Amino acid sequence: MKYYSLNDKSHRVSFEEAVIKGLAPGKALYFPEELPKLPSEFFDKLNNLSKEEIAFEAIKPFIGTEIDDDSLKKIIQETLDFDFPVVNVTKNINTLELFHGPTLAFKDVGARFMAGCLGYFVKKNNLGKITVLVATSGDTGGAVANGFLGVDGIDVVILYPKGKVSEIQEKQLTTLGQNITALEVDGNFDDCQDMVKKAFSDTEISEKCQLTSANSINVARWLPQMFYYFLAYKQLAGKDQKLAFSVPSGNFGNICAGMLAKKMGLPISHFIAANNENDVVTRYLNSEYYEPKESVQTISNAMDVGNPSNFVRILELFEHEFSNLSQELSSFSFSDEETRQAIKTVEKETNYVMDPHGAVGYLGLQEYLKKNPDVVGTFLETAHPVKFLETVEEVIEKKIKIPQKIKETMARKKEVVEVSNYKDLKTFLLK
Ligand SMILES: *Cc1c(COP(=O)(O)O)cnc(C)c1O
Repeated sequence: MKYYSLNDKSHRVSFEEAVIKGLAPGKALYFPEELPKLPSEFFDKLNNLSKEEIAFEAIKPFIGTEIDDDSLKKIIQETLDFDFPVVNVTKNINTLELFHGPTLAFKDVGARFMAGCLGYFVKKNNLGKITVLVATSGDTGGAVANGFLGVDGIDVVILYPKGKVSEIQEKQLTTLGQNITALEVDGNFDDCQDMVKKAFSDTEISEKCQLTSANSINVARWLPQMFYYFLAYKQLAGKDQKLAFSVPSGNFGNICAGMLAKKMGLPISHFIAANNENDVVTRYLNSEYYEPKESVQTISNAMDVGNPSNFVRILELFEHEFSNLSQELSSFSFSDEETRQAIKTVEKETNYVMDPHGAVGYLGLQEYLKKNPDVVGTFLETAHPVKFLETVEEVIEKKIKIPQKIKETMARKKEVVEVSNYKDLKTFLLK
């Protein structure tokens, strides 16, 4: 499979190049040249396949022979090394829990899969030492750090703003050791991001070390997210019902992967993009007018995105035909107040505790089901509520049980390199 640049269809690269480069020239996204169809027998026998077998069949056409089957199976096995349960919340509302991975948020799957692919290419093609350099405002850093932990030939350097990530997030970043180094930056997230950008264009650095990013728009982070929908389908299928998925969306990578799975033949009737007050897509579907704006801060902060970078991939999936897209995708937006109220009500009525992102997904689904009561709906629970402990405990007025994994992480010792300006970063990278 080749990938083309969404800015220039004649610019085509291999899967390997798309993974290593991350972005096409002009900061454009890569997109698969074909949308493979899976045979109907695959869906008929889905029930008898393991999650690894399902994932292998789904992703194999996108990789072709660039990764041999045994290595791809091993990467998948390491990626999906935890559960993805569908849990019933109320009568026709289910949730797909995506928070059982090491950092308790769904980004673990993409980060691990990308780490596996990059590690494979580094080894197979003797690329030498590669340094993954990322700036994080919280969740991405933890998932990337964990995904790349112990991968041969790759060092990971993560910049995070001092005092501006939660305690859990900080411990997830700073306690791993091995090939992971956390740089505690005296500044905010934008400062971290600026330093990373500067390093990428600094020739003194690029002469000495090979830098790459683990950006969320990398095809190796985007594509494996389709596994969620296949795995949910396996658990929901056989009931001969129309299935809809509501996806709490920020950069729109996750929902776009679901829509890709549908194009490959997965029988999903409808998608709902659930937004917080960052509602550019909700407004687009209502008005056909796409107008990005500055992001606003909310309690579902991983979705505080004013100009979602993956949305252009959704447009490409539908060949930029608005009428086709709007038949398969609805979008609703909710305030923090509505989100808090949903967490509270659902906990009271069902004992199920949602995190703020999942709660936005729940609200989107509820809205859609009002007009489509015959549909079985599933919202994606993208993070464990413990990651948003303060907000959730305050709303439900109860303590949440802390998972063992988090207790262990919290007990470990933080190790960082302090960085106050670009010169410090450069010195670190060149040493
Ligand atoms: C990243 C993230 C999202 C948004 O996912 P996108 O693929 O960017 O739309 C939603 N919830 C949580 C908890 C996240 O970390």
